Amino acid sequence: MSPPRPIELTAPDILRWAQGNTGTPYVWSFDSGRKGSHVMVQALTHGNEICGALALDWLLTQQDHWQVPQGRLTVAFGNIEAFARWDPQDPDRSRYADEDFNRVWADEALLGARDSIELRRARELRPFVDAADLLLDLHSMHEPCKPLMVCGATGRGGEKGAALARRLAVPEVLLIDTGHPAGLRMIERGGFGDPASARTALLIECGQHWERGAEAVAMDTLLRFLGHSGALPAAFVRQHLQRVGRVPPARQQLVRVTEAVVARHPDFRFVREFKGLQVLAKAGEPIATDGGATVCAPYDQTVLVMPSSVHMKVGTTMVRLGRIET
Ligand SMILES: [Zn+2]
Repeated sequence: MSPPRPIELTAPDILRWAQGNTGTPYVWSFDSGRKGSHVMVQALTHGNEICGALALDWLLTQQDHWQVPQGRLTVAFGNIEAFARWDPQDPDRSRYADEDFNRVWADEALLGARDSIELRRARELRPFVDAADLLLDLHSMHEPCKPLMVCGATGRGGEKGAALARRLAVPEVLLIDTGHPAGLRMIERGGFGDPASARTALLIECGQHWERGAEAVAMDTLLRFLGHSGALPAAFVRQHLQRVGRVPPARQQLVRVTEAVVARHPDFRFVREFKGLQVLAKAGEPIATDGGATVCAPYDQTVLVMPSSVHMKVGTTMVRLGRIET
């Protein structure tokens, strides 16, 4: 077991945004009345990932200081029911209420008969997600790890996501993955997952959930994304990027996930503690045991992406394995 992580961030009071201005609770939309992209930013897809909520709370408090120059900007707090259970004494409890909100975005789930707290909220947000040309979903990670941009899945939008992340010039590590067998993410829904569509979605993992630095990463990424998409005035973006003070990396690196390691048995265990983005030098190095089988590094220089056993359940992705692409 990894040690409990200190809670350095204070969750924002987002109750003041509950009313929204769209008819949907916690969804705010600002239409310039001019042609341009519909840009959407979301936080609290996972209720315990508060850095993104801090960034969007800040953005909304600043509404007197910016106007959308073109197109439309939508700001949404995702899994608000889970976030309502936030308790710094038990910070993992508020990740979701019934199920992972980031696995319910396929039509089969959204338009199906099944019910859950997360499906109800996803059904409320679907019209906004489906109308967005550009989407940024703000997340954080359970284990300490460099920030990384999840650009989408190989052949299903990951390449155009990576191209957009390169134009943003942040963060250092870009990830193209294989998705999750447990269900479709918001960034893969509809045109976002279609390489032929111009619609593009990104998911930023800002660092460890509750470390102070995650808030600055969320702010920095949000500002760059909204500046680049034209949803915020350039001068406003410049001023606040300067205040946040993060310097973009000298170069970016792409990690391409080749496989997701999904727990098949309740006795799934990592053979030792691994760090996020840790590289295993040699093929065959053991990673985990699962129901009598051993999961090993498939090739030299295997990158371990977000290893975590805290939400261990059969069918859950425990770690993803990838290669650095140059
Ligand atoms: Zn998350």
